[in-house]
Amino acid sequence: MEILFEKDKKVLVTGGAGFIGGALIRRLLINNSCEIFNLDKLGYASDLTGIDSILSKAKSDDRERYKFIKLNLVNQKRLREALFSINPDIIFHLAAETHVDRSIDNPSEFINSNIIGTFNLLNTVKEFLEESSIKKRNSFRFHHISTDEVFGSLGNKGHFTESSRYQPRSPYSSTKAASDHLVNAWHHTYGLPTIITNCSNNYGPWQFPEKLLPLIINRALSRRSIPMYGDGLNRRDWLYVEDHIDAILLASKKGKVGQTFCIGGGEEKTNKEVIFQTCKFLEKYLDLDYSCTNLIKNVQDRPGHDFRYSIDSSYAREELGWAPKNTFNEGLKRTIEWYVKNQDWSKKILKKANYNISRMGILKE
Ligand code: NAD
Repeated sequence: MEILFEKDKKVLVTGGAGFIGGALIRRLLINNSCEIFNLDKLGYASDLTGIDSILSKAKSDDRERYKFIKLNLVNQKRLREALFSINPDIIFHLAAETHVDRSIDNPSEFINSNIIGTFNLLNTVKEFLEESSIKKRNSFRFHHISTDEVFGSLGNKGHFTESSRYQPRSPYSSTKAASDHLVNAWHHTYGLPTIITNCSNNYGPWQFPEKLLPLIINRALSRRSIPMYGDGLNRRDWLYVEDHIDAILLASKKGKVGQTFCIGGGEEKTNKEVIFQTCKFLEKYLDLDYSCTNLIKNVQDRPGHDFRYSIDSSYAREELGWAPKNTFNEGLKRTIEWYVKNQDWSKKILKKANYNISRMGILKE
């Protein structure tokens, strides 16, 4: 993809120590010449190894284009100081608590980061723009990265679109829905130049190993049982993370202020299909002397587990000229190979987070 942000542009990414934010920053370091500010509280799922590996190979000019700021969006005073000192031209807002099971056990973290954090950021951006030049106000963008989960659960038919009704059903998705509403309100009421993208299930390298794909891979590699929630028939629309980054960058450049785009990989699979396909691939790829599929174990379903998500991306495809480049088979192969090669990274990040891939999000009897 061509250079989108030139040398004189300052790009602020919140949540850049996370899975998707990290992929965005790596892309900005490799393909762009802008200054990049990564603002993250460094939560349990955060890791900067992927960005550091790019920086270690970069020229000193490129290293100087990147700055990390450890900051929790809940801290309004420090956020204000940081934002005014950065003086950004665009903000990609990805910082959020993201794991549904954790949101069932500890919803308050989600209220704080996803709702209060977004509110603080919007209010600070509003103040910042009020003190900026007209030229800056006209060119500035606030790009909010959200999820298809805000639209709730589909039956066997139909797809989510930009006009789907908000019907979030988990603590996670309800806090993301709240953040979408706040972004829209700050656009309509205060004229904030916003863009929202709602995307489907991302997968790819560097994802914290509590999420489905790395969880299956790591448990299979260590010969531990592989949990399949309920009957495994819940369906998700899988999007390779680099295709998502393409969509984010295109939407930020070509999208008009106030627009929303639904971004999906168009690769709908049941969890059961994903688990079996991953196990079969691992058995063949590593020529294992044990069966990964025999490790699969049906476990109690997630409370309120959404049955199906599926996105109709035709608006984004037409307006932005975006299309995913990776099929699920290609993306899955690349992801599995990466996790097999980077088992030490998974172990390191799990140890750092003091997490042993145990089950979360079950209601107490
Ligand atoms: P992630 O959990 O890997 O990373 C999130 C990052 O945000 C972490 O580094 C965390 O420390 C940071 N963060 C959280 N709260 C913060 C706060 N209060 N202040 C500063 N930093 C904070 O998540 P991800 O998978 O990279 O998701 C990024 C964004 O994309 C989220 O907003 C998520 O809702 C959205 N999204 C993700 C997916 C997916 O499949 N992963 C799908 C749709 C939308």
